[in-house]
Parts: sequence; structure tokens; C-alpha cells
Amino acid sequence: MQSKLPHIGTTIFSQMSKLSVEQNAVNLGQGFPGFSIDMHLGKLVEKYIRKGHNQYAPMQGVSELRQIISQKIEKSYGHRYDFNEEITITAGGTQAIYTAITALVHEGDEVILFSPAYDCYSPAVELNGGSCVWVELYYPEYKINWEQLQKKINHRTKMIIINTPHNPSGTCLTREDMLQLEKIVVGSDICVLSDEVYEHLVFDQGRHESVTRFPALAAQSMVVYSFGKTFHNTGWKMGYICGPAQWMNEFRKVHQFNVFSCNTPVQYALAEYMEDESKYTGLANFYQEKRDFFLDGISDSRFNFSPTQGTYFQLLSYDGMYKEKDTDLAIRFTKDYKIASIPCSAFYPDHLDQHVLRFCFAKDEETLSRAARILSGI
Ligand code: GLN
Repeated sequence: MQSKLPHIGTTIFSQMSKLSVEQNAVNLGQGFPGFSIDMHLGKLVEKYIRKGHNQYAPMQGVSELRQIISQKIEKSYGHRYDFNEEITITAGGTQAIYTAITALVHEGDEVILFSPAYDCYSPAVELNGGSCVWVELYYPEYKINWEQLQKKINHRTKMIIINTPHNPSGTCLTREDMLQLEKIVVGSDICVLSDEVYEHLVFDQGRHESVTRFPALAAQSMVVYSFGKTFHNTGWKMGYICGPAQWMNEFRKVHQFNVFSCNTPVQYALAEYMEDESKYTGLANFYQEKRDFFLDGISDSRFNFSPTQGTYFQLLSYDGMYKEKDTDLAIRFTKDYKIASIPCSAFYPDHLDQHVLRFCFAKDEETLSRAARILSGI
């Protein structure tokens, strides 16, 4: 049988996690928190299971949860989404992205993506008959040249996918970037798909510039968020998407046939848990301490780096240390030094190798100390 994705294999995240387990290495590769959730949230899930909330949730999500999300966004970014028509609960950010692309991209449409890009975007575009138009960004600043982007837009352009804070680079789009983007899309029928799953992980007093802060841009955007990144439970696979009713209506037509609805007791639990804002407002400090602890530990190492602006990823450049390909080096480090990372070339369609590895610092201090000792000794 002919493959629909002939050039795609197992994701780099699964590959590196598997190798890390086999090698008994410190796993700073695949991004996931290495510590427990707040057990109060666990207890709330148990409470709603006991209360009997164990059958299908409404297709668009439990109303209490959509209401609290609407309030949270309005408070954080000033934009009010109608919880009935403009917010849908999803089985994680990846499902939201896949479903949005499926609902909005037609055969022959063009979608603009920035590389390095998180790996789930382009296969979703291709599976739906769209074609990817790439704008390449480079280490260390990964700055977008908006004029260059403007030149790539034509009557076939249906969507622009942005991601801020950005995986893998950790860079954050600025207010100026958002205004440029707004200028480009306003007046067109282009949809901005904005992956903002790391919204709370912005460091050094920086501010998350959500598309929802810019009314004209919000009117043309579908925005994706993740509970997993915010509440340390990536394995629960829960997230949500917000956007204008007309597009959300199309989104739900697809959503109802690909997941129908998401975990019911977890939705009730999250709704109650999120009433206390402090459960997410302290997240930037929490992760900034981890970042600084990790960077302190490797300050004498031979790697080059500047502190990441956002996300729980830190890039380290080995330029001048080795000439090896980043994919080979990531494997060698896992085998020889027992530390796993993600090679950044995996995020470029043409595997552009800038000699940069991505390390996830969402780990406890003991793990970060071990990792730092290893990296300092390389
Ligand atoms: N988002 C995680 C990362 O970037 C990986 C999730 C996955 O493995 N699909 O590392």
C-alpha cells in the first residue's frame, strides 16, 4: 500500500526517549515535566469520578470549564471569547492543531510555516492536501523577517502557523512582531493558527504577546492552549482552542468525528482547580528558577548559550566543539555520556544543522544537577 506520509518516520521525541530509557540516560530530550502534579488536582478528578461524571462530556466540552477559560483569557489578555461558540476542549494541543488544519485547509491551499517548527504542523497540512511554504529562521535569534513573509503570500495562502513562546528555540514574538502580522492578515481571509501552549512560561519579566491581545488579529486567529504544559500533566492529553464562531463551527464539525468529546471528570476537575488563579500565575517564576539553576550548573561548560526567553527548553550550541551532525551527536551523548537531548535539525524540513541541541529543564533539581555535571564534563 502506498504511504500517505512516505517521508515521515517515528517522531524524534519518541526516538530519543526510547534511546534514553535503553541507555539509562538522563532524559532532557522529549519535553515533559519530571515531577508530580499538584495532588489537589488529582483529588478533584477522583471527586468527579465518584460523583458519577463518567459518561460523554458535551462535544464542545464541559460548560463550566469553557466559562472559566473565557474568564481567564479575558483577564490575562483582554479578549472575550464566547464560551458557547468560541471555545472547544480538545485532547491536547496536537489534536487541536490537527483538527483546525483539517477543518480549514482545502486541497491546493498554501500554509505558511516557520522553521524550525514543531513537528506536527506540516504532516497535518500535507494529509489535508495543502502545501507548506516555509520561512526559515536561524540560531540564535530566530527573528522573523516580515517582508520576506509578505512576499510568500498569494491568493492560495489560507493559513499562517505561528508558535510563541517557540518550541524548540524558546524565543518569544514581540508586540512589534504581532503588529506586523496583524497588518499582513487584516483584510484577507487568512487564518492565523497560533500555538501558544507555553503561554505561562515567559521569563525575565517578559510578557506573552498572545494574538488575543490584538483585537483585529484575534478576529482572524485560532489559538491553541494546553493544560498539560500549565499543570504538569502532559499525559492527560488535554487542551483547548479558541477562535471566531464561524471557524469554530467548522472546527467542531471535524472534532465531533475525530474525538467526539474529551475526558469528562478531568474537565470538571480542571474547571474547579482553575478558580484559583495562583495555580498558574506563579509558573513563570517556578520555571525561571529551574532554568537558572540549570544554567548555573553549566556555566563552566564548553557549550555556548544565552538564557532561553520562554518554554521549558534551553538550546546549547556546540559549534567549535565538534563537527558532527547534531543527530549523530545527540545519539552519541545519550550512549557515551548518558544524557539525552533533541537535535534541532529535526525541526527543519531540510534538516538544516546549525550544531544546536535542545535540552528540557522541566525536571527536579537532582536531575538538573546530574545533567549539569555531565554537560560540564564534556
Ligand atoms: N512537545 C514535546 C516536545 O517538544 C513532545 C511531545 C511529543 O512527544 N509529541 O518535546
